[in-house]
Amino acid sequence: MKPEEQAVLDLARAYLTQLAEQGERELWIPKANLPISQHSSENAEPFAEKETPGVRERAPAYGVSGERDLKGYFNEIKDCRKCPLCRTRKNFVFGEGNPGAKLVFIGEAPGADEDLEGRPFVGAAGKLLTKIIENGLKMPREEVFIGNILKCRPPGNRNPLPNEIEQCEPHLIRQLNIIRPKVICALGTFAAQTLLETKVPISTLRGNIHYYQDIKVIPTFHPAALLRNPGWKRLVWEDIQLLRREYDREVSSEFNDA
Ligand code: URA
Repeated sequence: MKPEEQAVLDLARAYLTQLAEQGERELWIPKANLPISQHSSENAEPFAEKETPGVRERAPAYGVSGERDLKGYFNEIKDCRKCPLCRTRKNFVFGEGNPGAKLVFIGEAPGADEDLEGRPFVGAAGKLLTKIIENGLKMPREEVFIGNILKCRPPGNRNPLPNEIEQCEPHLIRQLNIIRPKVICALGTFAAQTLLETKVPISTLRGNIHYYQDIKVIPTFHPAALLRNPGWKRLVWEDIQLLRREYDREVSSEFNDA
């Protein structure tokens, strides 16, 4: 090895040692030049990246560590048997989307379509949610993360039971700790009441900003409820405008602090 090559190697080693001493356990490698794998709904693998024209250019460049952590966590819990819903589910629905999302949507629990596909919000309510995100917030669905309070379908779409919420909530808490969003949109009664630890009805919670730890929570009606009550459209529209304003505020203040 030439002396100048040895010098570069020594410098790199010293730099890595310094990073390790500062507590860094991973190297940040920009994803931009990595090959984009095809999205597949098979095996409920929620993080295979979908090649959507224009989305990658618009999406912020995140480090790989959140993605790896979320994938690792998916592998850790995908065979969960903590509550009886594991016996009736077809698929464990972890959630899907951007592992570095600044905005996370939380629904109640998978329905029949989600259970079949292993993906959240893919049925009629999911189609409406996608419209709300893409037409209301003017964001690609892939830019946010979408999950649920329960990861497995309650039979017959009945309401989640307290014991199921209790067993499943730690999964959501861990997901939120990995993703660390700036804003959460709680979809419907169960999501809002669970995150905010309250029994106050969704009709009272919506329209205001709440907090889950230091993350802003903006509750709104569940898209399935909106399908049944089209008269609530204007209220949801107002909530989505509030959500967009708070998202912009949070993202721009993060940018200014950087
Ligand atoms: N309703 C929910 O709350 N979550 C889903 O994933 C689908 C429908």
